[in-house]
Amino acid sequence: MSTHRLTAPAPGWTAATDVVVVGSGVAGLTVALNVRKAGLRAMVVTKAVLDEGSTRWAQGGVAAALGEGDTPEQHLDDTLVAGAGVCDEEAVRTLVTEGPDAVRRLIATGALFDRGEDGEVLLTREGGHHRRRIVHAGGDATGAEISRALVAAVRTDPGIELIEHALVLDLLTDAAGHAAGLTLHVMGEGQRDGVGAVRARAVVLATGGMGQVFSATTNPAVSTGDGVALALRAGAAVTDLEFVQFHPTVLWLGPEAEGQQPLVSEAVRGEGAHLVDADGVRFMVGQHELAELAPRDIVAKAITRRMQEQGAEHMFLDGRHFGAEMWEHRFPTILAFCRANGIDPVTEPIPIAPAAHFASGGVRTDRHGRTSVPGLYACGEVACTGVHGANRLASNSLLEGLVFAERIAADLAGLDAAGDLPERAVDVAAARAAQPVPLPPSEARAEIQRLMSRGAGILRSAASMADTAAGLALLAEQARSHVAEEKPADPRVETWEAANLLLVATALVTAAAQREETRGCHWREDFPERDDAHWRRHLITTLAATGGPVSTPEEQ
Ligand SMILES: Cc1cc2nc3c(=O)[nH]c(=O)nc-3n(C[C@H](O)[C@H](O)[C@H](O)COP(=O)(O)OP(=O)(O)OC[C@H]3O[C@@H](n4cnc5c(N)ncnc54)[C@H](O)[C@@H]3O)c2cc1C
Repeated sequence: MSTHRLTAPAPGWTAATDVVVVGSGVAGLTVALNVRKAGLRAMVVTKAVLDEGSTRWAQGGVAAALGEGDTPEQHLDDTLVAGAGVCDEEAVRTLVTEGPDAVRRLIATGALFDRGEDGEVLLTREGGHHRRRIVHAGGDATGAEISRALVAAVRTDPGIELIEHALVLDLLTDAAGHAAGLTLHVMGEGQRDGVGAVRARAVVLATGGMGQVFSATTNPAVSTGDGVALALRAGAAVTDLEFVQFHPTVLWLGPEAEGQQPLVSEAVRGEGAHLVDADGVRFMVGQHELAELAPRDIVAKAITRRMQEQGAEHMFLDGRHFGAEMWEHRFPTILAFCRANGIDPVTEPIPIAPAAHFASGGVRTDRHGRTSVPGLYACGEVACTGVHGANRLASNSLLEGLVFAERIAADLAGLDAAGDLPERAVDVAAARAAQPVPLPPSEARAEIQRLMSRGAGILRSAASMADTAAGLALLAEQARSHVAEEKPADPRVETWEAANLLLVATALVTAAAQREETRGCHWREDFPERDDAHWRRHLITTLAATGGPVSTPEEQ
């Protein structure tokens, strides 16, 4: 039987399913496959094509205690250390104990990981891990292989409906406030864009990260924080937004470079490459027992500090001692994009600088992926399960997507079996007609990114964030006044994304300004110390009645 695949639904289109999953990365596709195994119908809606998201860009791999002598307990310890005191230990325990089998099931689904001559899966090391426990594929093309395998699996399942080119806008709820579906903006080729809707018994957000709120990021263009914005507008709690991980080693392409930048994976340091300054000094030695393999926040801060001290725009990653053969076999993707940008890692050190990489926070969930809105689930980078704390341990995010996707499907199956997943009544026509937010013009995106990178990026202070917040407030005010003057921006993908970026950026700055300490990847210049007495807790962000985000510290 062939897959029911609808690539360009017409405006006004309405459909129904059991579980609608938003996003087609590792999290979304794993939810869909497992929901199907439970006998429920699934629909995956994605705003570009199926493999367009962070998943296919992942290089390093997936962490799991699969090696000889390694244990989930050791993986737990490393994760808690990286998380800087605010991980949810039970969530981490779930991740590391269910992780190895989740990886084995991914292999059974068809993902081909690199193997040694003995046929065993090869394991590498990355920053913060005290063991070799990272499985990888195609050398440094792990995400592409996972994406390929999962896309192939959903395409051959006739019970999974796949909708591409449909940007999900907002949640539909029934009279009791239970999730009942979604509104979406459909982009038909050769057709007019317009608003459609999907009715469903449960909704799973798997929309990935929000790296595009910053000017330089490793995230693709689709990572605009749409799921967090949707959840906020739906009344759900989000948390830990201030903990944005900046990847220490992103290829430096010049001072004017913007948008998605190529990542030089931590695995390159795992295999022995050195971080050096322009004089060839290995500045990580003596700063941390793991030197170049210290947790990411420590490495990113050390690089930034060195850049400031020396007035340099970048540092270098030196892997010349690997030799050509190792570069070609172990890191073919990185080698290719470096060479495409005029740098040959075989003969010269690679210029690198930190860039926004991973959102440790997101829509708050329990260990079943449930958010604070009944029937609304979140999974993958959009979610905050509590496993990352203040800083994600390398290669734990693909694993989180796998493990918690399976748990969401199990929860939905249990609800269905108990009769707790009935059809929901909802006024689709009214929801489709509603205009949920004032839309800024599409050019607002670049301005949001500039404001965020300048004032709320790797270096933050009360003063820098106040400037950023004022700039964001002005953009929001301009969008509102265009609506009042009956000159609203056109509802297009670009303007919806700008609206979501504006809301998510404002929420992030609200939380980051409130956390008056330095912890994990949140680095305050005006509060350089970690303050366990006041801040060993989470900030919960919601939308106030006035429409703006408010962050409240959780009880200690
Ligand atoms: C360069 C790079 C390297 C990385 N390397 C690693 C690594 O080695 N190991 C590791 O564990 N992690 C790594 N990560 C992080 C990891 O890849 C991501 O956290 C993970 O893939 C996120 O998966 P996801 O399914 O949550 O989201 P994504 O894979 O980002 O998918 C999100 C999906 O949601 C869709 N979407 C978004 N908004 C909407 C909307 N409004 N309507 C409809 N669809 C929408 C997108 O189009 C996309 O399909 C890396 C990330 C990057 C960017």
